[in-house]
Amino acid sequence: MAPVNIEQLRSRFRGEIILPGDGTYDSARKVYNGMIDKRPAVIARCVDVADVMAAVDYGRENHMLTAIRGGGHNGGGLGVCDDGLVIDLSRMKGVRVDPAARTVQVAGGCVWGEVDHATHAFGMATPTGIISTTGVAGLTLGGGIGQLARSCGLTIDNLLSADLVLADGSFVTASEKENPDLFWAVRGGGGNFGVVTSFTFRLHPVKTVFAGPTFWALDETEKVMKAYREFILKAPENINGFFAFLTIPPAPMFPAELHLKKVCGIVWCCRGPADAAEKATKPMRSVGTPILDGVGELPFPVVQSLFDALYPPGLQWYWRADFVNELSDKAIALHAEHGAALPTMHSTMHLYPIDGQAHRVGKNDTAFSYRDANWSEVIVGVDPDPANKDKITKWCKDYFDALHPYSAGGAYVNFMMEEGQERVQASFRDNYARLATVKKKYDPSNFFRVNQNIQPA
Ligand SMILES: Cc1cc2nc3c(=O)[nH]c(=O)nc-3n(C[C@H](O)[C@H](O)[C@H](O)COP(=O)(O)OP(=O)(O)OC[C@H]3O[C@@H](n4cnc5c(N)ncnc54)[C@H](O)[C@@H]3O)c2cc1C
Repeated sequence: MAPVNIEQLRSRFRGEIILPGDGTYDSARKVYNGMIDKRPAVIARCVDVADVMAAVDYGRENHMLTAIRGGGHNGGGLGVCDDGLVIDLSRMKGVRVDPAARTVQVAGGCVWGEVDHATHAFGMATPTGIISTTGVAGLTLGGGIGQLARSCGLTIDNLLSADLVLADGSFVTASEKENPDLFWAVRGGGGNFGVVTSFTFRLHPVKTVFAGPTFWALDETEKVMKAYREFILKAPENINGFFAFLTIPPAPMFPAELHLKKVCGIVWCCRGPADAAEKATKPMRSVGTPILDGVGELPFPVVQSLFDALYPPGLQWYWRADFVNELSDKAIALHAEHGAALPTMHSTMHLYPIDGQAHRVGKNDTAFSYRDANWSEVIVGVDPDPANKDKITKWCKDYFDALHPYSAGGAYVNFMMEEGQERVQASFRDNYARLATVKKKYDPSNFFRVNQNIQPA
C-alpha cells in the first residue's frame, strides 16, 4: 500500500518517517523474530509524546491499520504490520531513578537492560523478564514474568502509573488515582488501550543475587521435576528458580565436555544474603547427580543478560504457552519425553514459578487473571536457519498439544503467537468482559488492534 497523505504526518513530526524504498526501511521493519516478515506502509519513529499524538491522529484519520512497536520482541510480531502504520517508540529513551522515593520512570521505548543498568547503580531493581533486550512496554503491558516474581511480584504489580496517548490522540495518565479503570486494564491487557509513552515503577533493594544454573542429565528429568514441584512452592519467596530443558551452548563458561549436551536444569536467581540462598537451595541442588552446579553471587544485571548472547535478534522463533497449576506425574512423564527431543540447540522449554508475591494480588485486581497458577510454561522452537522452520514448529506444537490437557487452560499473552480470539479470551477468563468495557470507553473503534485483541463491548 502506498503511504497516504504523508505530508499531513510530516508537518507535525520531529522524528524519522521511514517509507518503503528508503535505505533504512528493511532494517526498520525487522523485528526480533526472524520468522516475521511484514511490510508496513509507514514507520513513524517518534522522539517525543507530541510525535506519538501526531502519529495516532495520522493513522486514525487515514484509517490505517496501526501497530505499536516498543522493543520489537513480540513472538507473533505484533510490533509491526503489513500495509499499515507502525508507531515505533524505539528512539524514546530515558530512565530516571528517584532513590528517595524508590521509583523509576522509564520512557516507552526502553528495553529492560537500560532499566537494570540505571537502577543497579542505586542498588535497586524492579521485576522484569530474563533477557535484557526485551521491550519494557510490551512486557509490562502483558504482565511481566521474571526472576523476581516470587519475591517482588509481576512487573505490573510494581507499576505505579503510566502515561498514554489514546486512540483519539489525547494524553492521559493512568494510576490508582487517575483513570483507575484504565490503570486496571493496562496491567495485563496489553497494548489495547493506547500508546504508553512512560511508565513509573516501584523499586526494591536488589544489588547482587545468588544465581546460575544447576544441570542434570536427561535420564534424571522425572526425579528432578518431581523434587522441583515440591521444593519451589515451599521455598522462601526470595528463592527463585525456573525449570528448563536446554542444550548447553558451546561457550567458554561451560566445561568443553558438556558442550551441546541436552539437559534439564534449574536457573536460579535468589535475593538476600548469598550464604542463606546457598543453604536454602542446597536440598534441590543435591537431588540426584547434577552434572553442573554453576551457582554463585552475581550482579543482578549480569544475570539479566546471561542469555543475550545465545539469543541475538533475527533467529526463527515459534512459541506456545500455558499456565500450569500443578505438575502431575503424567505431565512430568510427557515433559521428559518431549524435552528430550529438543530439535535444535536454541530450542527450549521454561517453567517460570509465579507463586509467592505474584499470588498476593487477586485475580480481578488487575487484568492478569491467572493469579492461582503456579507456573507459566513456555515452549519455544528456535533456530538461526529458516530451513528449520517446520522442524522447530512441529516440535513446539506437538509438545504443547501433549501438555495442554494438563494446563490451567489459558496462557500468558506475551508468550503467545497470533492464536485467535478463543485463546485470548481463555487467557483473560472472567476479566475479559470488564476489559471489553474499558476498551469501549478508551478505544471504541478498536484502532489499536495489532495485539492480543480485546474487542470493544
Ligand atoms: C527472547 C525473549 C525473551 C522473553 N522473556 C520474557 C520474560 O522473561 N518475561 C516475560 O514476561 N516476557 C518475556 N518475553 C515476552 C515479551 O514480554 C513479549 O514478547 C513482549 O511483547 C515484548 O515486548 P516488546 O515491547 O519488546 O514487543 P513489541 O513487539 O514491540 O510489542 C509487543 C506488543 O506490545 C504492544 N506495545 C509495544 N509497545 C507499546 C507501547 N509503548 N504502548 C502500547 N502498546 C505497546 C504492541 O502493540 C504489541 O502488541 C520474551 C520475549 C523474547 C523474544
